[in-house]
Amino acid sequence: MGIKRLLIANRGEIALRIHRAAREMGIETVAVHSTADADAMHVRLADHAVCIGPPSASDSYLNVAAIISAAEITHADAIHPGYGFLSENARFAEIVEAHDIAWVGPKPEHIRTMGDKVEAKRTAGALGLPLVPGSDGAIEDFTEARALAEKIGYPVIIKAASGGGGRGMKVVNSAEELESQMGQARSEAKAAFGDATVYMEKYLGNPRHIEFQVFGDGNGKAVHLGERDCSLQRRHQKVLEEAPSPVITPEERERMGGIVAKAMADMGYRGAGTIEFLWENGEFYFIEMNTRLQVEHPVTEAITGVDLVREQIRIADGKPLSFTQDELEFKGHAIECRINAEDPWNFTPSPGLVSSYHAAGGMNVRVDSGLYAGYRIPPYYDSMIGKLIVSGRTRKGAIMRLKRALEEMVIEGVKTSIPLHQELLEDPEFNSGDYTIKWLEEWLAKRNDTARAD
Ligand code: ADP
Repeated sequence: MGIKRLLIANRGEIALRIHRAAREMGIETVAVHSTADADAMHVRLADHAVCIGPPSASDSYLNVAAIISAAEITHADAIHPGYGFLSENARFAEIVEAHDIAWVGPKPEHIRTMGDKVEAKRTAGALGLPLVPGSDGAIEDFTEARALAEKIGYPVIIKAASGGGGRGMKVVNSAEELESQMGQARSEAKAAFGDATVYMEKYLGNPRHIEFQVFGDGNGKAVHLGERDCSLQRRHQKVLEEAPSPVITPEERERMGGIVAKAMADMGYRGAGTIEFLWENGEFYFIEMNTRLQVEHPVTEAITGVDLVREQIRIADGKPLSFTQDELEFKGHAIECRINAEDPWNFTPSPGLVSSYHAAGGMNVRVDSGLYAGYRIPPYYDSMIGKLIVSGRTRKGAIMRLKRALEEMVIEGVKTSIPLHQELLEDPEFNSGDYTIKWLEEWLAKRNDTARAD
């Protein structure tokens, strides 16, 4: 073993993030890029770079044959997929391993299990994780659906087994709506994911989204790195994340963390993973598991001091976890703002030339971004262009620091979501920590109404 050259099958800030960890470990990096990303920072910094196709992601960052060829010609001995793109593609993981290249990710069978939400729920239940009440597996028959909905009580939510990215969900408020909504959910799931399988859950009225970071060595040892609160969402997409959650006590963290770590140990899970829960009235309900690094991983790094990407690479290299549960300490409070190139209030994408750029700095301020002055943000990919992460001894201190850091950030030439974050941080409810997954959309609607009236 001994990884010497790592191919990074991704772009943008996460490609840079992985490059940084690799360099610090003395590992060479290979960037892959589409023709649209030839001037991107991840390409500039990498030791080697290979163009793998035209702008369209399906022809480049999702092009398995081109990525494997790039690994072969550069003699890369490991591949890190980042998040998105091929990161949760079990078949890709198998192909990588079949080429004797180390896969910096979980075992392919675990990616597959957790990628099917019906299978994932069944597995989570068997491992002792608390579930949202709902169907025991897929739901096919309408009579069966109606009986179940009566039993768990309306409203219920119909979800696509192959769903993702917040898509493929229908809330059903009464028996009258059930048949039509279920039919619609099925046909939309079929169209979007090529799989009409759906299942039913109780619809929780006003939960928070709280997720646990886990790590396994693949041989039955696993730890948890505490939780992140990602309740600030728009259209089921996270906007701002924090760790720890303002509502979780140290005792609750230890109790629930212990349950998820044991589940991962029993499963023989390898590498980084995130177990997502909805949380309402003090109870956790499993919704899904992501078998990859998350966008919001830096808030966990900030409060634990653990470099999660370094840990991923070590595990892929056959090394043990570099720390034990007892050695882990949670210190202070961290918040991440996702910075998107888009109109902050109507969310229209705003790609184009970044005419000037200055990153915030100072104590406990981290900017993960591939931006530079003169960079042209391509219109073909996700609009997230960076993340600003700060930490402080308390939540209040972190908020003050975040305001200061946002003031320092300069991104000119394109619109960004910075003004949204700045207004959000002034809101008393945000400051109190008392918010749920519905709060941000309601706040935005109110704010836009007021702006229109002015
Ligand atoms: P995806 O894989 O598409 O992200 P998830 O199952 O993780 O789907 O759910 C995404 C979001 O949808 C959650 O963060 C939450 O906001 C909402 N959601 C999912 N299931 C429920 C439920 N049973 N009750 C209420 N909201 C839900």
